[in-house]
Amino acid sequence: MRKEFRLKRGDKLVLATHNEGKLKEFSDLFSPFGLELISAGQLGLPEPIEDGTSFRQNAAIKAHASAKGAGMIALADDSGLCVDALDGRPGIYTADWAEKADGSRDFNIGMARVEEELQKAGAINLEQRGGSFNATLCLALPDGDEVFFEGKINGSLIWPPRGNIGFGFDPVFMPQGYDISFGEMPSQEKHSYKKGETGLSHRARAFVKLVEAVCE
Ligand code: IMP
Repeated sequence: MRKEFRLKRGDKLVLATHNEGKLKEFSDLFSPFGLELISAGQLGLPEPIEDGTSFRQNAAIKAHASAKGAGMIALADDSGLCVDALDGRPGIYTADWAEKADGSRDFNIGMARVEEELQKAGAINLEQRGGSFNATLCLALPDGDEVFFEGKINGSLIWPPRGNIGFGFDPVFMPQGYDISFGEMPSQEKHSYKKGETGLSHRARAFVKLVEAVCE
């Protein structure tokens, strides 16, 4: 991304998603900076095929499709759970592990699959059950310019699932230095960020880097 690029108050961005929950989460994060977000879904843009082999590639595919399709600055995120004893799986396929035969998602199935694979790998003790949540943000311009911001939080995979705050794989992930799962943690604490500090969740950590690099 060219060095002088900055997001200014009043700028409008397209968020490369068809998920309204994600739009709300990012709109809240960006509102203190005077930035307005509209989603690719609201603009009727088609969903690109995410056939990359990394979080970075998939974030780039989504961001460029939206930037070109809308002729606007675009932001995309790609995230997932990487489990050490499973050689980094499910990784970019995290959402797929929760998919049912009819194509809908059930995260209880996804969490149970992670546990089953950990059992198969003989990962019984907490020290053998390390993993991380990872998020990559890609900001892209219609001319093809791009920049990436990455955030990661290490922790352990616990079983059984704990707590019902949050979403996805939150109930089985205990961040390092805590004795509660993401599923038991209020979302303000999980997603909190402060300028100059890292933030806690993978997404908050990537977002802080973006703010420091390109926001006024
Ligand atoms: P995507 O980034 O929308 O492709 O999906 C990533 C998948 O990773 C989601 O469907 C969630 O299941 C999972 N995931 C990503 N971040 C989190 C998180 O903070 N908590 C729980 N699950 C997450």
